[in-house]
Amino acid sequence: MDLGIRGRRAIVCGASRGLGRAVAESLAEAGANLVLNARGLDGIEQAADEIREKHGVRVDTLASDLTTEEGCNRIAVAFPTTDILINNAGGPPAGDWRSFEREDWRTATDHNMIGPIFLIRNYLDGMVGQNFGRIVNITSIVVKQPKAMLSLSVAARLGLTGAVKAIAPSVAGNNVTINNLLPELFDTDRLRQNLTTIGKQNGRTLEEEIAEHMHIIPAKRLGKPAELGATCAFLCSEHAGFITGQSILLDGGFYPGLF
Ligand code: NAD
Repeated sequence: MDLGIRGRRAIVCGASRGLGRAVAESLAEAGANLVLNARGLDGIEQAADEIREKHGVRVDTLASDLTTEEGCNRIAVAFPTTDILINNAGGPPAGDWRSFEREDWRTATDHNMIGPIFLIRNYLDGMVGQNFGRIVNITSIVVKQPKAMLSLSVAARLGLTGAVKAIAPSVAGNNVTINNLLPELFDTDRLRQNLTTIGKQNGRTLEEEIAEHMHIIPAKRLGKPAELGATCAFLCSEHAGFITGQSILLDGGFYPGLF
């Protein structure tokens, strides 16, 4: 299927590895020109070279922490407009909620709620003016199924989800959509680090911990980042203009609820 986004500009945050990198690949495959962001240049320069060579699209890079005010302003100056924005960054640390100080809650909110909201603010009016825009926030299953040890993530990401739901209807008539993708158990560096930590607590190796998780995933496997990339590219396509304000799970059937 031609996604109808050839030549469009897509800003992809957290693109040096994992889910962000997979989204960048899928958008490039559809012919979009990319702006890749991560905090350091190393990972994104390599990703940019590989994507240019493979897909022949234009790829620019910007090393900056976009969850900060300074980073948000930097990208607005360097790239004042975009057709597609993918909000993605690392998640907050896990831990007992009593152990977190005020600063931890502020940092989580900055990274996973306020940062993405201000990036949306950077680009939304331009998207409305050009009658095309696609924004996808990569959040987490915890938005639908909170976990005790991930209270920072639950709180910050629910704030973003609520803001998006409030904003999305106001721009839907201008062919601008805002949606959230909620991953669980995708095979990325971050997941392997988390499972290594959990495995140590349980006296298991990483491989044994992954095998344990197979029992609780109906699909009996971890998610492939490319699967999330392809779903995200579809949401960014010209065909997805009637989908907005949604939080879409990608979890191999893990979530037990109806809605
Ligand atoms: P990852 O650690 O493999 O990759 C994260 C990427 O974001 C890296 O490129 C990193 O350099 C970049 N990054 C981190 N903080 C940044 C910042 N402040 N500014 C710019 N770039 C930043 O993680 P992943 O597994 O790809 O996860 C991506 C997102 O999805 C995270 O928010 C994570 O919490 C969420 N998530 C992932 C899973 C999963 O199964 N992998 C499950 C639930 C939620």
